[in-house]
Amino acid sequence: MAEEITEEIEETPVETFEVNYACLRCGTIVSNTELSRLPEIKCICGFRVFTKVRPPVVKTVKAI
Ligand SMILES: [Zn+2]
Repeated sequence: MAEEITEEIEETPVETFEVNYACLRCGTIVSNTELSRLPEIKCICGFRVFTKVRPPVVKTVKAI
């Protein structure tokens, strides 16, 4: 019995809206997925204030 095993490799684009946050104190960049894993939103340095960092997306937006 010859069984053909075909491995299907699906290339599914992961559509996760990853947002990076930078610590205001030390500048450590943490992604929102990493932050959600933490029991509390807190930087490794202990600071809790983050600023949103925009991912480097090449996009031209025409401002009116
Ligand atoms: Zn920090």
